[in-house]
Amino acid sequence: MNVNIKEKIIELKEKMNAIILAHNYQVPEVQEIADFVGDSLELARKAVNVDAKYIVFAGVDFMAETAAILNPDKTVLLPSRAAACEMAKYLTSEKIRKYRELYPDAAVVLYVNSTAEAKAEADITCTSANAVKVVKSLSAKTILFGPDANLASYVAENVPDKEIIPLPSEGHCYVHTSFDPEWIPKDGFIMVHPECPPEIRKIGNIIASTGGMIKFVKNSTETKFVVVTEKDMISRLKRDFPDREFIAAYENAICLGMKNITLEKILYSLENKKHRVVVEEKIAEKARKAILRMLEVS
Ligand code: SF4
Repeated sequence: MNVNIKEKIIELKEKMNAIILAHNYQVPEVQEIADFVGDSLELARKAVNVDAKYIVFAGVDFMAETAAILNPDKTVLLPSRAAACEMAKYLTSEKIRKYRELYPDAAVVLYVNSTAEAKAEADITCTSANAVKVVKSLSAKTILFGPDANLASYVAENVPDKEIIPLPSEGHCYVHTSFDPEWIPKDGFIMVHPECPPEIRKIGNIIASTGGMIKFVKNSTETKFVVVTEKDMISRLKRDFPDREFIAAYENAICLGMKNITLEKILYSLENKKHRVVVEEKIAEKARKAILRMLEVS
């Protein structure tokens, strides 16, 4: 049945001049059908140069919004309305404005895992791959960083000459905070995502975004890796490096938002041109500046 769906998707996307962009946390069959698979930064970069009429985003809402902001003349489709990032919900534009009043000299750095409205209030965005580089590039000594308090603490560890204030202090990803240090296998080279809390990062042999993990494995002589991030990252790694061994640190580290995208929904999305992601131009214009500034820095 899947073969049939795959064939239909390929046929339709070619007919429509559509491209499928997928995140590393998508299920294997979705990653396999995609034209491009990557982390948030790679996907944002890809979205700037897309030569297609339709962009079908196999990821979560904020990623599709970013693609829509960067491509106002293209149609961006998110195959499921339920494909949402829980972390993005921690931060509203009102909260950012309130904090700006409290810290008038601070720069606002927002993780791309945030709403378009929140991004419109930011000076610059970042991803887990470039957060440290982005913060170092700023002249401000105080940084309001949100919505992930764990990524904020990772940045604070790596940029000690700046004051990093998490905005809000409780923002986190439920997937990356689901690991128990005692349960993480220790019989391999441990790669930890920076969204994990400090006590998990401490166990890691390296801390890296999903894109960073791929680059690391490529240049490494290690043969066995323990992967401390969403469990489908393993699918991507196994496909790229069939000669290495990868162990998921926790089989239940699953992003439910990401799993709302299926082959059936991608086909439905192409057939019915649903669900179109549109960001109001007044908001998109401001958010675009923050995203493009990030792309210039990294
Ligand atoms: S893994 Fe966490 S941060 Fe990433 S999309 Fe899912 S809920 Fe959001």
